[in-house]
This record gives sequence, C-alpha cells and structure tokens, in this order.
Amino acid sequence: MSGAPPRKRPVCPRCLRAQSSCICHWIRSLASQTQVLILQHPLEIHQAKGSGRLLHLSLEGSVLVVGEQFEEGRLRALLSASEAGQAIQPLLLYPRTPGDRQVALLPDLAIPSRLRLVILDATWRKSRKMLHLNPLLQTLPRLPLSDPPASQYRIRKAHRADQLSTLEAACHALAQLEQNAARYLPLLQAFDGFVDQQAAYVPAGDEFNDPA
Ligand SMILES: [Zn+2]
Repeated sequence: MSGAPPRKRPVCPRCLRAQSSCICHWIRSLASQTQVLILQHPLEIHQAKGSGRLLHLSLEGSVLVVGEQFEEGRLRALLSASEAGQAIQPLLLYPRTPGDRQVALLPDLAIPSRLRLVILDATWRKSRKMLHLNPLLQTLPRLPLSDPPASQYRIRKAHRADQLSTLEAACHALAQLEQNAARYLPLLQAFDGFVDQQAAYVPAGDEFNDPA
C-alpha cells in the first residue's frame, strides 16, 4: 500500500481512469460473433497498462465481472446462461498444462455464436490463483492460442502467444474462432496507440509491479 493519500482527480465514468489519462478514444466498437466473458482480477482495475476494460468497452455485448473467487452458482450462470434458450459452450482462453486431467475436451467450434470465450484478465500468477480458487474454471475446455499469423503482426515487438496482453490474446482468439482477422484489426491497431499512451504516462519499472 502506498502511504500517500489519494488525490481527488476527476475520473472518467466510462474507462474509470483519471480524465487526464482517459483511454476512451481508443475504444473501437466491434460486434464479435462469439460471446465474451471477462473475469477481471481486482488488481487489474487500476493497472495503467491493463487492457481488459478497453477490450470490454470495445466488444459489444461483452460482460466484465471483477473478482478473484466467485460464488459457484453465480459463476455457473456467468459461464453458460443463455438468453435464447440455446445451449452455450464456455471456452477458457488459457494454455493447457500437463496434468490437467479434468479439463474437458474441446467442443465443436463451428458455430461461434454458441461459444462463450472466458478471459482471465490478470497477471499469470493471479490467473493461476483464480483457477485454483474456482474449480469450475478448471473444468472448462481450453482454447489453445496459436501464435498469430505473420500477417497480423502490426505489433512492433514480436510477442509470443503467452506474452500477449489480455486484449491482444482475446482479439487473436476471436479472430481464430471466427476465422476473421480483419474484424479485430481496428482494435489491435488502436491498442498500439494505447500502449504508446501508457508508455508516456507510466514511470519505467511500474510494468512489473505485482503487489501480492
Ligand atoms: Zn475514459
């Protein structure tokens, strides 16, 4: 915890950041075919480089819920509740690890509108903790993220799939599921601007600040 008292600064009600560092101009409204659920770790809310909220604000119909441990009934509803009475298949965007025997096999991915991509917006360490605290998440089939094709590399630094930000990983996964990279390109391009903005504001060294 920082000892300095919080200063009252006007906050943007949409992106929840100080008005002076509002990121709303990077929002690109996109209609994904796949449903999207973002489970955001509480430490990500005020993480300057965090991209989960920008992702949520850009993806129409996406749901963002903040928490580390979720009540099981509520989580079950978040994962698979449907509005049209159509069965929804949740799919966790997370790498498979050896020994995860309870992970379900990948379902039929042919109809994106029946899939709900579940994204853990957290550091790797915290995402593992979220999995540990929510056994229901451990049982979900996992979507392995392949390295994005070279044609999608508008990122200056070449990131491996496991080094991508929440927003980038989600966009690549959605493009993969929907076989439509073009749909997500505007948001990925806007994200480059977002990264530049954060680099200008955030003091060096803050990037790896993981207080727990
Ligand atoms: Zn804003």
